[in-house]
Amino acid sequence: MKVLAAASEIFPLVKTGGLADVVGALPGALKSHGIEMRCLLPGYPAVMAALHDGKAVHGFDSLFGGPAHIIAGKAGELEILALDAPHLYLRAGNPYVGPGGIDWPDNWQRFGALGFVAGEIGGGKVKAFVPDLVHGHDWQAGLAPAYLHFLTRKVPSVFTIHNLAFQGWFPSAIFPELGLPPAAYGIAGVEYYGGIGYLKSGLHYADAITTVSPSYADEICTPQGGMGLDGLLRSRRDDLIGIVNGIDTDVWNPATDRYLVKQYDAASVAERAANKRAVEKRFDLGADEGPLLCVVSRLTWQKGMDILVDRIDELVQAGMRLALLGSGDAAIESALMLAAERHSGRIGTIIGYDEALSHLLQGGADAILIPSRFEPCGLTQLYGLRYGCVPVITHAGGLADTIVDANEAALDSGAATGFHFASADGAHLLNALRRVARVYKEPQLWRRMQQRGMGSDVSWNRSAARYASLYKHAIARKKS
Ligand code: ADP
Repeated sequence: MKVLAAASEIFPLVKTGGLADVVGALPGALKSHGIEMRCLLPGYPAVMAALHDGKAVHGFDSLFGGPAHIIAGKAGELEILALDAPHLYLRAGNPYVGPGGIDWPDNWQRFGALGFVAGEIGGGKVKAFVPDLVHGHDWQAGLAPAYLHFLTRKVPSVFTIHNLAFQGWFPSAIFPELGLPPAAYGIAGVEYYGGIGYLKSGLHYADAITTVSPSYADEICTPQGGMGLDGLLRSRRDDLIGIVNGIDTDVWNPATDRYLVKQYDAASVAERAANKRAVEKRFDLGADEGPLLCVVSRLTWQKGMDILVDRIDELVQAGMRLALLGSGDAAIESALMLAAERHSGRIGTIIGYDEALSHLLQGGADAILIPSRFEPCGLTQLYGLRYGCVPVITHAGGLADTIVDANEAALDSGAATGFHFASADGAHLLNALRRVARVYKEPQLWRRMQQRGMGSDVSWNRSAARYASLYKHAIARKKS
């Protein structure tokens, strides 16, 4: 089976969040299911630079305002189809926003082109790769199912929501430029609140919809979690499933991780102490008996980072230390820098994005704090499980689906792998931290939790099998 994935990010070439990890991991994980997956990506400088053995396999005289080519090539093991369109993608910086943090004004063209070209490939117009199915990810690829819907070659589409908060809405004036037939403009089409919704388009036209955990699939069908799209999602509930993400267990393996000062496995978890010392040094923290928490996150409202800011003094009073790595909202960044000054030696803040340091934190901190207001799947709690860095999470979405709360029964039976708190607010967060402190004082209990987490299957095996089966069903259904 041949599958085209269309996405705006792929690890290790371009990454701003978990989407990149998923898009980068699926091709390898699906190989053993007989699936050949190629990934269509915008030809950002980082993508073009990483390609080897690149060959132009198709050209467009004019694609949303300029000439473009599809370049087929490899990046490591990944088979890439790069959309080389310099007028759209040849610019430095972030894939979505310009230097001032404002969305690129031509994002509708940049990602309109991605959806359009995915449609062309799905339609069989690019002889080098004729897929049996197209899998689009997030709003940036949301128009792909719409273009596919109006083609004569009927190829099924799967659309995955990684985060419903990002919807890709543009004014209706762009509609004539998209090249979709007039029939596509309407409630039963790409129209959304008087404009064009790229994510909405994917949800309406895809043959099957997935999101990245079963709980999130439920949450987004409610008015509280649906962000304006719950009605549409409820109407498609039978076509919507949640498949939890896996992680790359080779990249995230404490036994071989070169970013750690000391490698270890479940049997030698005590060796983590050397990494803990290294974290303390990097973050200017004093040594202490109490638990060392870490955060590796975008610093945003979604991630509950404002709640953490509000309760950070109490966290210190409860005998905890915190090493925080992240970047995001300016107000949250500066509040966290101030907290580090106020609690020098107990709170360390590093603003920025640092892959190596994120590994060291997972390998050295005792627990990772994830107070998200909502979390479609989340990856950092999975890394935490694998590294014996106990996740402390809001009971939401994929966090709730992947971590077993250390309630009395789970502690007794040895099933516990982390700590849940009922909802993202300061009081619940502090209660959970008190529970963390209590269990941490019992080294054997804590060790058992770490080891149980380290033994959890966080690989792609189970989830890849579910995607493979979904693809097969979608293809069979389209044929019938
Ligand atoms: P989201 O995609 O919503 O940001 P996820 O938990 O799904 O959240 O994925 C976040 C990914 O980005 C993880 O791989 C995490 O380790 C990484 N990450 C987030 N912030 C940083 C940072 N400041 N430095 C390094 N890695 C980070």
